[in-house]
Amino acid sequence: MIEVKAVVMEKIAEKIEISMKSYPEPDLAPGSVLLRTIYSEVCGTDVHLMKGHLAGVPYPIIPGHINVGVIERMNGSVTDINNEPFQIGDVVTFLDVHETCHACWYCLVAKASTRCPNRKVYGITYSALDGLFGGWSQKIYLKPGVKILKLPSNLTPKDFIAGGCGAPTGLHAVERATIRLNDTVAVQGSGPVGLFAAIFSMISGAGQVIVVDPSQTRLQAAKMVGVDHTIGSTTSDHRIAEVMKLTNQRGADVTIEASGNPQAISEGLRMTRDNGTYVVAGQYTDAGDVVLNPHWQINRKHVDIRGVWGIDYSHFYKTVQLMAKHRDRFGWHRLVSRVYGLGEVQTALEDVESLKIFKAVIAPNDL
Ligand SMILES: [Zn+2]
Ligand SMILES: [Zn+2]
Repeated sequence: MIEVKAVVMEKIAEKIEISMKSYPEPDLAPGSVLLRTIYSEVCGTDVHLMKGHLAGVPYPIIPGHINVGVIERMNGSVTDINNEPFQIGDVVTFLDVHETCHACWYCLVAKASTRCPNRKVYGITYSALDGLFGGWSQKIYLKPGVKILKLPSNLTPKDFIAGGCGAPTGLHAVERATIRLNDTVAVQGSGPVGLFAAIFSMISGAGQVIVVDPSQTRLQAAKMVGVDHTIGSTTSDHRIAEVMKLTNQRGADVTIEASGNPQAISEGLRMTRDNGTYVVAGQYTDAGDVVLNPHWQINRKHVDIRGVWGIDYSHFYKTVQLMAKHRDRFGWHRLVSRVYGLGEVQTALEDVESLKIFKAVIAPNDL
């Protein structure tokens, strides 16, 4: 029997425990694929999973929702969206979101498939008792119907994983923001989501992109990819004043929040111009309430406030294509701060939580 090693988060009493387990290599149902994992990302969501902050997670789980690997086995012919058959040895990724039903009210009437109640997510909402459904594992079982995508030949696995889930989330935020040519875009937060919101704003023709983050370490990545301005002041009033200085005292046309801090909402509205657009993308978990002044900050400002939740296949697909096209300009692989073995997951999580590093990546077959 071939054994597969995987990292499991288990809920024991009120605590989440992390341990390495062995699983038998699964039998493949018709239309399914077995992937040998090359890289899996570690992101803020995994820190939330470790702390038990997300509702409805069926512990024990194998985390790791954004992954890249090599096709090791398949049962039958499996094709991509262009009807091209996959081959053994192809380097592929896949959309972590699976089983969006395309049959419920949200999918069919509201056309908001990221709010479909039937969605399942690899590395988050599948139990380890059901199989290898997360990337912190030497192999991943791709169920029939999982949306698999071959990496373009000029996008290496390390380039791709450098984007992680922040890249398609940032792209979705930019689509929600409907950026126009020459817009000034302010991005609050220079983590992976904020950085990619800034990058996709640049690609979308923004006139200037300003990244705001009180942590100078976090701003390094924004500087590296060449955003127009970074603002690292530690007080809210200073940060707003700096944005005003860059916009003739009017504020940004578009502000994208990717900070994770509820207080950023009030600040972000203040740095957005009248009749501008404000997109909230960084409040993935409930981090608390915030006081707003609806007269000054919403009604009189005539501002458009939009939320953004999750990603669908279109965001994932476009991200991969754009990352391939702009690889030489941005040198994505440089964003990977450190590659950890499967036995170093705890350290990786601590490094992500303390914001010590920008992007942590697990290489499960380098134990
Ligand atoms: Zn649905
Ligand atoms: Zn993630």
